[in-house]
Amino acid sequence: MEFKYELVPEAERNPVIQDVLKVPFGKVFTDHMFVMHYRNGAWEQGAITKLAPLPVHPGSIVLHYGQELFEGAKCFKMKNGKFGLFRIDQNIARLNNGCRKLKMPEVPAEVQDKAIRELIKVDQRHIPTQDGCSLYIRPFIFGDEAGLGVRPSSSYTYCVLLCPVGAYYPEGFKPTKIYSDDIYARSADRGTGDVKCGGNYAASLGGGALAHQHGCSQFLWLDGQHHKYVEEVGAMNVFFVKNGIAYTCPLNGTILPGITRKSAIELLKDSGIEVREEALAIDDVVASIQNGTLTEIFGTGTAASVCPVSELKFKETNCVLNKGTPLEGKIGPITQKLYDLIIGIQRGTVEDKK
Ligand code: PMP
Repeated sequence: MEFKYELVPEAERNPVIQDVLKVPFGKVFTDHMFVMHYRNGAWEQGAITKLAPLPVHPGSIVLHYGQELFEGAKCFKMKNGKFGLFRIDQNIARLNNGCRKLKMPEVPAEVQDKAIRELIKVDQRHIPTQDGCSLYIRPFIFGDEAGLGVRPSSSYTYCVLLCPVGAYYPEGFKPTKIYSDDIYARSADRGTGDVKCGGNYAASLGGGALAHQHGCSQFLWLDGQHHKYVEEVGAMNVFFVKNGIAYTCPLNGTILPGITRKSAIELLKDSGIEVREEALAIDDVVASIQNGTLTEIFGTGTAASVCPVSELKFKETNCVLNKGTPLEGKIGPITQKLYDLIIGIQRGTVEDKK
């Protein structure tokens, strides 16, 4: 598909941000966006245009019933000076998987891929060159038909936005504290937890706020059926290292199949670490931290790549990993190794075997 190009005249484009590290995540956008509409049963010609508000009817299906999906990916400046997209084919496939679930039309993979690459090409001067910084890519699709009946929209908008973003750890790669409780669940068995629809994130805000009230940065999600098994942390997949074995929740339909999770499993296995896709019960996690057999916890996701955890608070119980040992408050060796590998692949300093 050929796209239309309605570009902002050079003289009217925004200056390139000099210090991306100072910009809050996702608050600064590039000059252009990609927009494409689905009308009368088919995708129309897509366009790269000036970033501008979209005309949305107040009766649009998305505003009332949340028929929306999004993706998150990153474009990095590589060591060789080129720019690399990390596993974008998997983001594209995940969006289309969500479209099937939410009864939206799929966006052909080659159109998504071209839209993302062409938009990046047009706005490439905004790709940050500072170490660890990147261009965040946000594709999304929503039902825009005006109508208050609960049913799939008959028309859609697919759009791609770009944001220069700073390193996730501007002060360095540091361990965090997480909070867990069984009063909230992020997703339900046979629900929408395995797709990236906006409603899942609205449903997660209560847990996030509770974690902050407890002085923690992320909420550790327990399953919505038994309220017992650990599934994800914040908007990341989660791994536990117990007796030297890495555990992560299986793709059981309630967790998001993270692209970083998949890479992490492959990289850990390649490094000789046993990985089991098994959900651990929160009581087991607490007891194993206390008896010293559970030595590392980390989250994985596009935003942070790898997020180390040094402390878990479950309701009123505070559990410090590796308490009283030289590793207390430190990043575990497996977490560090995985972070170095993923960051290395993204920057082109470590060979990508994929
Ligand atoms: N779980 C949830 C709920 C998420 O929102 C994300 C971020 N997309 C992840 C896991 C991690 O997925 P990925 O590695 O593809 O960013």
